[in-house]
Amino acid sequence: MNEDFITLTIEKQKKIALIAHDNKKADLIDWCEEHKDILKQHILCGTGTTARMITDKTGLLVKGYNSGPLGGDQQIGAKIVEGKVDFIIFFSDPLTAQPHDPDVKALLRIAQVYDIPIANNRASADFMITSSFMDQAYDHKVINFNKNILERSKTL
Ligand code: PGA
Repeated sequence: MNEDFITLTIEKQKKIALIAHDNKKADLIDWCEEHKDILKQHILCGTGTTARMITDKTGLLVKGYNSGPLGGDQQIGAKIVEGKVDFIIFFSDPLTAQPHDPDVKALLRIAQVYDIPIANNRASADFMITSSFMDQAYDHKVINFNKNILERSKTL
């Protein structure tokens, strides 16, 4: 309880979220097909349309949350906080304004807070999915939230 950081484990079987903006959906589906043998060993989820399309086109089982613009990114952010998502592939579109830009920013931020590996383009995704850490548990340090709350509640 006194430590500023606690050790959490990203297990050998990763809990992977898959998200793609509309102009990047075909690219993510192609990437999923390419890495299907690895992906099928893990637990997959995604924003609604992305998840549906990956399942339809590749046969991979992907649990779908709401569509991104309707809160799907926020749902995935909440799953990070709950420890139910620990790895993200998010092919975002840097050239198109998104109505849910604040949600996208919030997802990136919470992934950073929880030290979650997150790839936002294909090269990063390739490096992550071929990492030796994919075949083993990985310990990482995350801020000790209980201590944080205790200190804040005493000092504010
Ligand atoms: P979608 O959402 O998979 O429902 O299209 C993705 C997003 O735009 O964040």
